[in-house]
Amino acid sequence: MKLVIVVPCYNEEEVLPETTAQLSRVLDGLRGKKAIDQGIILYVDDGSKDTTWRLVQKYATENPYVKGLKLAHNVGHQQALWAGLEWASQRADAAVSIDADLQDDVDAIGTMVDYYNRGVDIVYGVRRERKVDTFFKKGTALAFYRLMRNLGGEIVYNHADFRLMSRRTLLALMAFPERNLFLRGIVASMGYPSAVVYYDRKERFAGESKYPLKKMISFALDGITSFSVRPLRYITYLGLFFMLIAVFAIFYGLFSYVEGSALPGWTSLLVSMWFIGGAILLACGIIGEYVGKIYKEVKQRPRYFIENETD
Ligand code: UDP
Ligand code: MG
Repeated sequence: MKLVIVVPCYNEEEVLPETTAQLSRVLDGLRGKKAIDQGIILYVDDGSKDTTWRLVQKYATENPYVKGLKLAHNVGHQQALWAGLEWASQRADAAVSIDADLQDDVDAIGTMVDYYNRGVDIVYGVRRERKVDTFFKKGTALAFYRLMRNLGGEIVYNHADFRLMSRRTLLALMAFPERNLFLRGIVASMGYPSAVVYYDRKERFAGESKYPLKKMISFALDGITSFSVRPLRYITYLGLFFMLIAVFAIFYGLFSYVEGSALPGWTSLLVSMWFIGGAILLACGIIGEYVGKIYKEVKQRPRYFIENETD
């Protein structure tokens, strides 16, 4: 079987030598025990501004495993990963995606391949514990996974983009025409036999994170809005709730009016404020329902994938 390891790189000159050494060692080991016949390390240079591409070119001539793709512009981690997976879907039996910075355990790749050889299509790398992450990153990540689940998005807990995918799942992935990519969500929504490999997440080997807080938040929002139209429905609920308050306000206003404790004009203002507010929100929510439907249609996601068929 032919395995491609897809590694998106953005300004990763500091880690590339070590990453290449470690991944080559892993592929040597897997070939040694006949778990794979052929291995490729595919570096996808996501428009780096440092010497990343020059390094990749150098390794490609010295190291028989290494190949490189250079994207013309920085398109972001998810799109760069997609480029590599698309390349792999046409050439490999399975692809493993991993970050360049060696935070994910390269030795877990062996276990993933074992699962693949036993017929599993998708193997998720899941972080066992976030010892090295800051309290803040841990907390926000946890909150995000919860929120995403509650909003109905399928997601594998504590899994990022370290996973193995078989060729047929790669081809299935290519059937998603959407441009707003949240790969871990798409892959989890596809189905197919899957397994989980646990590993300890390490410190970045060198260099600094290419995901500052701003990018992290925008990525999280992307994930939620790519997989859930429920926030739109919540507007409807909020509208209904405010209308309900308006009903109470009407009674309260009228009661105060009859009782004589209301200032002139207060009753009509109070009542109309709640009523109009509620009506506007309700109207937004109803429009939102249609917007949600349109959103689902324009994404043109595939309807289903066949896992098996009788002869
Ligand atoms: N990356 C990329 N394009 C970008 C940003 C990041 O290809 O615009 C790559 C980066 O080189 C790394 C991976 O995505 O291989 C994950 O980035 P990083 O390790 O900085 O994220 P963190 O682990 O801090 O969340
Ligand atoms: Mg990292």
